[in-house]
Amino acid sequence: MSSPSPSQNSERLHSSHSPTSSKSSSSEESDRLSSGSDADGLDERARQNDKSNKSRVQILGMQRRSKCGYCGTRSGSRFFAARSQMLTCADYQALIDRGWRRSGTLLYLTDHSDSCCAYYTIRTHALLVELHASEKKVLRKWRKSQLLRDCGMRPNNSGVSLEDQVLTVADRLQMRLEPAGFSEEKYLVFEKYQRAIHGDLDSTRSGFRRFLCTSPLLFEQPKADVHGEDVSLSDPLLPNGLGSYHQCYYIDGRLVAVGVIDILPRCVSSVYLFYDPDFSDLSLGTYSAMREIALVRELHRKVSSQIEYYYMGYFVPSCPKMTYKARWRPADLLDLITFAWIPIDRCLERIRQHPAFCTFDPSIDGRGLVRDTEQNVLKLTPALDPGLLSEEERVEAMLLEFEIRLEGGNAFRLPAASLARVLEGIEQEVFHTCASMSLSLARRMELSF
Ligand SMILES: [Zn+2]
Repeated sequence: MSSPSPSQNSERLHSSHSPTSSKSSSSEESDRLSSGSDADGLDERARQNDKSNKSRVQILGMQRRSKCGYCGTRSGSRFFAARSQMLTCADYQALIDRGWRRSGTLLYLTDHSDSCCAYYTIRTHALLVELHASEKKVLRKWRKSQLLRDCGMRPNNSGVSLEDQVLTVADRLQMRLEPAGFSEEKYLVFEKYQRAIHGDLDSTRSGFRRFLCTSPLLFEQPKADVHGEDVSLSDPLLPNGLGSYHQCYYIDGRLVAVGVIDILPRCVSSVYLFYDPDFSDLSLGTYSAMREIALVRELHRKVSSQIEYYYMGYFVPSCPKMTYKARWRPADLLDLITFAWIPIDRCLERIRQHPAFCTFDPSIDGRGLVRDTEQNVLKLTPALDPGLLSEEERVEAMLLEFEIRLEGGNAFRLPAASLARVLEGIEQEVFHTCASMSLSLARRMELSF
């Protein structure tokens, strides 16, 4: 297998769509839906977290993206969206385990009844991953690179642990894991990357801030560390606890790449990667994925034994450049009815049979499992389907309180049932919220419209 080309590397980044291109679908959506906040919000989130550990989520309802970032289709697709300025890491972990993703502060879940592509959440068992020939070739390339070579080659580390192979590849590489935040140096690398790799000529600083430097995640301590006690805030590996980070790659003091990642209670979730195109020969997409898998293992060993998985965003079978995500094994795909993780080998055959969309759990039958036959037209993506709620849960859902802000600035908190009497369509949005997030998660968040 050949090592990935720079363009394949860049596809890794589509896992969360291209963030600031004026042509990018998600940026159009997010620009339109933006609440206007452009600040990094790190201090604000840290401060707020002292007072309250509740997530605040504004339900935006069904939205439409005008162009698909994966297949380029202009017919667009529907997604259910929410906006959050404050989200606990545990709540975001629960959301991505039900198929949600974030782009900046926008949270979204695709409606597969009206989507050109199927989006399956994929997770890799980082503790069990073994390097294959193509990844070892990338590591050999790093060891031999004149660019990275200092005083002779590193010893050949084949046969030792993945971490040893990945982390000790070059003397002149320095890494810095820092809370996600803006710097001019990062923006200049990002702008150069967008121009060279995505042909995006108008990446702005504000767009960069909004999508890759701003996160709703509140920094928080991991629940259970390996020693059974809280990890100190000054832990060098995880200075602020769980949250959104930039993993910065420097060669001889020059910033060459930034991996945008969320460190959550059970995983490291890759948000985006951008790098200096001058360093394309180093296969930074592949190397950074190995690096992030190694980070999961390190966090598992030193910080919290619950951190075990590496999330690479969505696996999109209709996009050939996305299939590389399946090469990191063992891996699972998320079933959107039962929210169970199913080993990917069991999913791939079913995906081949039903390329438009399918669910995987064999124990479920007769509830819109596939979209591609006339007899079985999906009315709504299963994860959003109010039909998944029991009668009791529907009653409970309508008792949930939502804040609603009027034009004059006055805000009211009212049960959904009261709001439904005066606002058309609220009931469906409450049901979509509870079906997709689960009633228990919806209950512990401060929700608003
Ligand atoms: Zn598409």
